[in-house]
Amino acid sequence: MSAAARAGTLLSVVVPMYNEEDALPSFAARMRPVLDGLGVRYEVVAVDDGSADKTAALLRDLAADWPELRMVRLRRNSGHQAALTAGLDHAVGDYVASIDADLQDPPEKIPEMLELARAEGLDIVYGVREDRSTDTGFKRWTAGGYYWLMRRLVGRQVPANAGDFRLLSREAVEALKELPDQQRVYRLLVPWLGFPSGEVRYVREERVAGSTKYPLAKMVRLALDSVTGFSAAPLRLATWLGTVAFFTCLLLLGFSLTVYLFGATVPGWTSLFVGLLFIGGIQLICVGLLGEYVARIYTAVQRRPAYFIAEDTARDTARDTARDTAGETGAGLGAGSGSGPGAGLGG
Ligand code: UDP
Ligand code: MG
Repeated sequence: MSAAARAGTLLSVVVPMYNEEDALPSFAARMRPVLDGLGVRYEVVAVDDGSADKTAALLRDLAADWPELRMVRLRRNSGHQAALTAGLDHAVGDYVASIDADLQDPPEKIPEMLELARAEGLDIVYGVREDRSTDTGFKRWTAGGYYWLMRRLVGRQVPANAGDFRLLSREAVEALKELPDQQRVYRLLVPWLGFPSGEVRYVREERVAGSTKYPLAKMVRLALDSVTGFSAAPLRLATWLGTVAFFTCLLLLGFSLTVYLFGATVPGWTSLFVGLLFIGGIQLICVGLLGEYVARIYTAVQRRPAYFIAEDTARDTARDTARDTAGETGAGLGAGSGSGPGAGLGG
């Protein structure tokens, strides 16, 4: 996006939404006064991640008397991180905040983040969860394990308990857009960029309405993308397990030869069977791990866009204006080009 197009827009707020019709009215009611109260030019980029419910229709209604609200609708459900990518690609502000639609992250913290970033010249301000008491025990336990592992794999600069509620400067957003990564995990990519950063602490609230859009399968996917995106350590697991198996075999060789010399070779079915299962299990795990990395290479080689834009209220308004003056031009293909899905994949 050119500097001219974003001139004057200080803040963009990116909100990924997937089937959020229940949470949307409360979200708008709480978000708007906070942003209006800032007294700066802002935009809200609501990314409808291929919702099957009335999310898109509700957004259109809301936008009718909230001019700062813009909807970018994806053609199909592409996942939270892909929706964030779409939002970052389309946001024009000098600062870009991202926040969930379910009000688990308090919108009131956004002005605080902005103030901190501008006062101290920071490029990144993380929202860090102070207390997860409203999350289920299972969620807390898995989240604890996740952040522990990520800090070991990616490095200490990954803040524990910082999800996707954060503020980025324009420079940080452009740096992210230049990355060729396909399966992005922003909570790791952002700290990895190494920009000066700060934190704003907040208490994680309960989801205001509706139910979680992160079932176990999506959580596992995020964890796998996180690990394979930042570490080749699991690949080395095969080497270590193989070494252990080799030395175990040497010991067992000594044992079986001794037993053979004493002429008692028939018993031993149990050890044979257990050994067989053990080696078979290890081999399958290692092939599976290898598969995860091959899959990543496969996706990278395909270079397919992470999302497709079906509709962008800002661009459609601009196009309607252009059409009024210059007449209709080919629309169909245009929906997939321009600042759309291809952006950020080049390089
Ligand atoms: N979300 C999305 N696409 C998806 C899943 C989730 O855009 O495929 C959005 C969702 O609407 C919400 C945010 O990502 O704004 C976080 O999801 P959710 O609150 O369900 O996750 P949880 O807080 O339970 O981890
Ligand atoms: Mg949530």
